[in-house]
Amino acid sequence: MRPDAEAARDAWTSAVHAEELLRTVIDESPDIILMKDWDGKFLLGNRALARLYGTTPEDLVGVDDGAFNPNEEQVAFYLENVRGVMRSGETEIVMEESTDVETGETHYYQSIKRPLIGPDGEPRILVIAHDLTDLQRANRVIQDRERSYSYAMAAAGDGIWDWDIVSDVVTHNAKWMEMFGITSGQLQHPIGVFTEILHPDDREDVQRAIRDALTGSGTYQHEHRMVRGDGTMVHVFDRGQVVERDDEGNPTRMAGAVHDITERILHEHRLRVITEALIDANVSLESKVEERTNELARANSELQNLAWRDALTGLPNRLAGMNHLDAEFARLNRNETGTSSILMMDVDLFKKINDTYGHGVGDDVLTHIASTITESLRAGDFVARFGGEEFMALLPDTDLDGAVIVAEKIREAVEGSAIDAVGTVTLSIGVTVASSADAEMDIAVRRADTALYDAKRLGRNLVVTRSTDSD
Ligand code: GH3
Ligand code: MG
Ligand code: MG
Repeated sequence: MRPDAEAARDAWTSAVHAEELLRTVIDESPDIILMKDWDGKFLLGNRALARLYGTTPEDLVGVDDGAFNPNEEQVAFYLENVRGVMRSGETEIVMEESTDVETGETHYYQSIKRPLIGPDGEPRILVIAHDLTDLQRANRVIQDRERSYSYAMAAAGDGIWDWDIVSDVVTHNAKWMEMFGITSGQLQHPIGVFTEILHPDDREDVQRAIRDALTGSGTYQHEHRMVRGDGTMVHVFDRGQVVERDDEGNPTRMAGAVHDITERILHEHRLRVITEALIDANVSLESKVEERTNELARANSELQNLAWRDALTGLPNRLAGMNHLDAEFARLNRNETGTSSILMMDVDLFKKINDTYGHGVGDDVLTHIASTITESLRAGDFVARFGGEEFMALLPDTDLDGAVIVAEKIREAVEGSAIDAVGTVTLSIGVTVASSADAEMDIAVRRADTALYDAKRLGRNLVVTRSTDSD
């Protein structure tokens, strides 16, 4: 072969090769590649397009979309669209849909439409369409998820927070904003906005709890107070969890929910106040009862005093004296042995004192004599004001001799203690012993009275004894 012929054949061979190669590239492309004329008829269509239309690249040539696509509206749109591009002479990039003839599935494409001029000057268009269906689907799933997430955020009764730790952006739901009275309208803030509205007394504890969660278990939970812009306080129960970490395990995202527990805290507080008030009331009730009991006991003992004591001298009165004598007699009867002595004492010529100095001075004299008698007695002895100016003493376990000594001591003490203005006052004393031999105490009392009468009769300021009734 001649060299030119050889060269021509080589050129032809390589041209054929180049065209084959181009055809292969076009057919193997996952993107749709096509060329159309002014009427929308295919001049070229690759396998990706043939697959979509359920045909072969060869059968595409010379027909329009209408031959494969039952969607007339879509077909009309394509024609109008390519003519628009051809008319404008500008390359256009558009998003469009096409229906898969076999599956009926809608595919989404990003198409580059480039106007060209054919060998005879006729307009053409080259379209390369990149199938974005999978990407679109993935995008839709993400959008759906985001939508549900934002619905959930919006619908939640609690304040929701989602903290991107790396970029320091906290996303809140509207409830969170409402809870803390933030009206900025923005749902995203730096974490500083949160720490700012923490109650100053709780801030450190909360920050520590969050830090512990970040460096430890990843779980955070805390009860604390937050302060709204208007100064009102919100008690909250806040919970969170590290939800994302980087390759080294460092937390990168934390999300949680905050629950308003103000009502509960207020109720608890009210309950505590009421309980304390009840306890106080109970304590004061108890002390009031105790006070009243003491008052009653005092009143009771005053009543006792009134019943048993003589108001002027403070000595036991006649009733108390009689009781005491009865008790003593019962004791003597129980023991059957032993004697006690009774002293019956009467102020001498007392009427004259009253008449001379007045009743008041008479009273003073009686008081003075009462204490003089008391001072002369021993512990265990008993004395009562038995009548107007008459006193009775009971000396237990004392015989007549012992009783006379005591009686003399009393008589001398009274006589020896001159009273201002009145001078010397004297006592007459009748003494007797009481024992179980007496049928009853009154007998002994009468004997002492008789002895007293004797003392008066014998000149007063005397101690006279009677040991038996016959004396
Ligand atoms: P005698 O030596 O015989 O006992 O003479 P007397 O004047 O002491 O006896 P009398 O029974 O005649 O008088 C007793 C007086 O004591 C009469 C009465 O007014 C008076 N008297 C009685 N109780 C009281 C009293 O509580 N206070 C005063 N000031 N006088 C009283
Ligand atoms: Mg008298
Ligand atoms: Mg008298």
